[in-house]
Amino acid sequence: MAVPFRRTSKTVKRKRRTHFKLQVPGMVECPSCGEQKLSHRVCPACGTYKGKEVVNK
Ligand SMILES: [Zn+2]
Repeated sequence: MAVPFRRTSKTVKRKRRTHFKLQVPGMVECPSCGEQKLSHRVCPACGTYKGKEVVNK
């Protein structure tokens, strides 16, 4: 089995991880209540999707 030739330095590791983001992308504003929600998902605040209520709140 192949083994890494060199240990990854702290700097290289940290530089690579600058691209790791804390928050989940794809957050949009709900068109009916204005809350932040995930796109292509039912709004957790008002329970609507595409302008229709699909979950009773
Ligand atoms: Zn909403």
